[in-house]
Amino acid sequence: MRDVVVVGAGPAGLHAAYRLASAGLDVLLLEARTQVGEAAICAGVIGEDAFMRFGLPTRSVLASISCIQAISPAGRALEHKTTAPLARVVDKGQFNRDLADRASSVGTEIWPGRYVESIQPEKQSVVLHFRTPEQGTGTLRTRVAVIASGVNFALNKILGLAKPREFLHAIQADVSLPQGGDSHPTQVYVGRSVAPGAFGWNIPLGHGRARIGIMTTALDPRPFFDALILRIAPGLRDPQVRLSPKAIAQAPVGRCATERILAIGEAAGHVKTSTGGGIHYGLLSAELAAEVILRAFHEGQFSIQTFGEFERYWRRAFGSELVTGYFARKLAASFSDSQIENIFDRAKAMNLLARLDGSLQFDWHHRAILTSIRSLITPSSVI
Ligand SMILES: Cc1cc2nc3c(=O)[nH]c(=O)nc-3n(C[C@H](O)[C@H](O)[C@H](O)COP(=O)(O)OP(=O)(O)OC[C@H]3O[C@@H](n4cnc5c(N)ncnc54)[C@H](O)[C@@H]3O)c2cc1C
Repeated sequence: MRDVVVVGAGPAGLHAAYRLASAGLDVLLLEARTQVGEAAICAGVIGEDAFMRFGLPTRSVLASISCIQAISPAGRALEHKTTAPLARVVDKGQFNRDLADRASSVGTEIWPGRYVESIQPEKQSVVLHFRTPEQGTGTLRTRVAVIASGVNFALNKILGLAKPREFLHAIQADVSLPQGGDSHPTQVYVGRSVAPGAFGWNIPLGHGRARIGIMTTALDPRPFFDALILRIAPGLRDPQVRLSPKAIAQAPVGRCATERILAIGEAAGHVKTSTGGGIHYGLLSAELAAEVILRAFHEGQFSIQTFGEFERYWRRAFGSELVTGYFARKLAASFSDSQIENIFDRAKAMNLLARLDGSLQFDWHHRAILTSIRSLITPSSVI
């Protein structure tokens, strides 16, 4: 019997496996895809702090971000620039493979091509059934299981664990831009007509390439993506454009822990509700889960009470961020494009970004959101 089986080789599962195997547990990780990092659809923007906090590998870094422009529907720009880099942009497939190498280096066994289709807690163990692409099947018994399956909530459903209440729908592509087309800072496009409920992005990757995408509450992000491409690079002809749509979990509700089992990362809805970024909180979720699991092994206690501590940990660490981000995004989504233009004007007039400087952090938005709302949202700014 294994000590821990982790389901899913995304950042959360790989980091949990690394932490648990480093502490001496026998860890097996099962990944549905035949290769770790395959089809890892993500803009790959990770805050600078996360690299230090989690000691992340840097081989996958494509670019660094030290200036971000928010662009209104009419083209007004608000710019936030720093002397030190704010974030890095990674090739997410390579990033996952590097995390897998790190987890393997401390003893994690990784089995790609294993889709876990059922999970059943028993008195002294958890039983998992998986299938392979060749229609083979297998059964495993483990003391503890970690569900890190991203936006696939099939195992949560079997266990009666929570599924996030809402999803954003995102699509992106890496494209070649006409000459000089990538000589701009990272741009975030907002507005109801541009990306209802969220935003679009244009991230220069260097060498004439950019990562362009849209995230929206609309079920089909394609028309908004097409419009953004037309706006950024009219006449773009790129046979390499491969569109990659995917859902992003928002707003976790309810339980993500039960006896011997924890759901972590996006499988627990641990994704920033302000931006849809799931890597930093996924890694943090993995750290907190590892802490709870190591204590369970130390005390020989695998009860729902022991595992339920995880809920308290993550809520304390980033629960208020998720709540504030969620309502801020809802509020922003309620504004018409002309109200957004007013808000941009007001923010410029009062030099809001400079005022926020102390509270502007890449991964922690609670304070900046509250200050912005207090400063900007007055009856006159939204009429
Ligand atoms: C277009 C787009 C852009 C994004 N941009 C950013 C960004 O710039 N920055 C950021 O921080 N976040 C971003 N995100 C979100 C981020 O990619 C995810 O939140 C993050 O990858 C979640 O990590 P995870 O480890 O929880 O899950 P995932 O990375 O989704 O990994 C889950 C893994 O589990 C495997 N799996 C699923 N079910 C099973 C099963 N039953 N058995 C075995 N394996 C299974 C999957 O194949 C997958 O490999 C973006 C998302 C999208 C869609």
